[in-house]
Amino acid sequence: MRLFKLLIFLAHWGVTRAEPGKFWHISDLHLDPDYKVSEDPLQVCPSAGSQPVPNAGPWGDYLCDSPWVLINSSIYAMKEIEPKPDFILWTGDDTPHVPNERLGEAAVLAIVDRLTRLIREVFPGTKVYAALGNHDFHPKNQLPAGGNSIYDQVAELWRPWLSNESIALFKEGAFYAEKLPGLSGAGRVVVLNTNLYYGNNEQTAGMADPARQFQWLEDVLTNASRAKEMVLGEEGNCQPSPLLLLPASLSPTVSLLKGAPISVMFLTPGVTPWKTTLPGVVNGANNPGIRVFEYDRATLSLQDMVTYFVNLSQANEKGIPLWELEYRLTEAYGVPDAGSRSMHAALGRIASDPGTLQRYYVYNSVSYDMEACDPACSAEHVCAMREVAFDAYAACLRAPGAAPAPRLALLLAALLGLRALLAP
Ligand SMILES: [Zn+2]
Repeated sequence: MRLFKLLIFLAHWGVTRAEPGKFWHISDLHLDPDYKVSEDPLQVCPSAGSQPVPNAGPWGDYLCDSPWVLINSSIYAMKEIEPKPDFILWTGDDTPHVPNERLGEAAVLAIVDRLTRLIREVFPGTKVYAALGNHDFHPKNQLPAGGNSIYDQVAELWRPWLSNESIALFKEGAFYAEKLPGLSGAGRVVVLNTNLYYGNNEQTAGMADPARQFQWLEDVLTNASRAKEMVLGEEGNCQPSPLLLLPASLSPTVSLLKGAPISVMFLTPGVTPWKTTLPGVVNGANNPGIRVFEYDRATLSLQDMVTYFVNLSQANEKGIPLWELEYRLTEAYGVPDAGSRSMHAALGRIASDPGTLQRYYVYNSVSYDMEACDPACSAEHVCAMREVAFDAYAACLRAPGAAPAPRLALLLAALLGLRALLAP
């Protein structure tokens, strides 16, 4: 499942400009502990389901979730590239895409534990804001609106990164708020559990405000606004991860429905190369990616975003993964920063300039899919970037110049199906 992951609520209070800071955002590690290089194409990885995986390499395969060596390599690459980030956002989805029967509570917790240990080992002393994805529960997607043994145990695993208050909150609903490091208490991170609103979650079906998370969020934002604090919010769910910047004084919904560019959402690449089986998605694999953001420590405004990746085919050919720069946002789209105005300008260029569109399209799969993005493809992507509400997205596709192709109709059907699932 690839959908919402991370929200950032941001208030500008006219504070003085400080030295730029950096933070990592990693997501969708999706460890497949049983990945192995096998000559039998049906024995390579459970995460490929019934698909044969021919010629699998040691660093992973586009049909499979991540082998341990790939995840290990990605975390050490972060250390090599930017060893002293201010903090790390880790937005979950740790376990393989396999049926529930192949996992179980103990297996899910063992994987969360293993990844937590790795991140702590490589980044000791670095603050990590971790969230649960829809795959980080057993049964998957069924995250409850109250206490349970998985929330309890994950809270203990993450205790080194959490205050006592956050641990107590996490145990009740898997959300929390923590102060940002190094800002003298002038900023706060909010980690949300949006799995509570997922249409596939039967535990919370029909609840108006599961775990009273919205009420809690409103209180956090109101208090932050009164205290003139910046609030940075993170939402754990599915790949790829959106990063959304909003003024704290406006609710996310209001901000998103406005026509003006007042907020921006970034989808972060996963480490897993796994080719999605979501209906309507054609060739939906990606190269493993990791991303560092550059931001103004005083205002939390995003200055740039730099994505690093490993070409998985080449890694397997050469026998070693080479983590390299994929692109720097400001250079790729000729914009001054990663703020909402700049991203609005970048969207205009993607929509009007075929060269920029093609560049965006390649980056969208972390340089895995090098096909040309035809007019139907262009309409899908431009509408998806312009509109976050399903109705508006559908209307955008129906607009002149966005003629649906069969593939598009499939995607649309998938999205409409999703809408039905997400409807309250
Ligand atoms: Zn995922």
